[in-house]
Amino acid sequence: MSGPVRPVVVRDTQFFFEGTRAHELRIQSCNACGVLRNPPGPACPRCGAFDRGHVVASGEGTVFSYLVHHAPQVPGKDLPLVIALLDLDEGVRMVAEMTGPVEIGDRVSVGWNDVDDDLTLPIWHKVVEPAETEETSR
Ligand code: ZN
Repeated sequence: MSGPVRPVVVRDTQFFFEGTRAHELRIQSCNACGVLRNPPGPACPRCGAFDRGHVVASGEGTVFSYLVHHAPQVPGKDLPLVIALLDLDEGVRMVAEMTGPVEIGDRVSVGWNDVDDDLTLPIWHKVVEPAETEETSR
C-alpha cells in the first residue's frame, strides 16, 4: 500500500486534524490558565488542569532548526524532505514539513496539502520578504 504516511489521530491530536481540515492551524491551550502548548497533551504542564481548548494560530513562524532527509525513502514523499522545527509567533515550537530548503531564522508561512476528504496536512513555505524581492528584481 502506498500513499502518504497518515498521522495517528488520537484524542490529544484530534482537534489539530479537525483544524487542518478547516485550514486552521490550531494550538492547544489551557482553559484554566490560558497557556499554549505543543505538542498537545492531556494535562497543562503549568497548572495541571485537564480543561483543554485551542486557539487558531496565525500560521506564521521562524525556523529554529531543520534537517534535510535524503534517505531512506518515505512512502508518498519526494526526497529530499525538509523538516523544520519552527518557533510559531504564538510562542510554541512545532515540527513542520517544508516545501523547499530553508535556513535558520527564515520566516515561514503555513499552507495546506489536502490529501483526501479526511486528511489535510500542513505544509510550510519560506516567506519572501518584500525587501528581498526588490533587491533581486531589476
Ligand atoms: Zn493551565
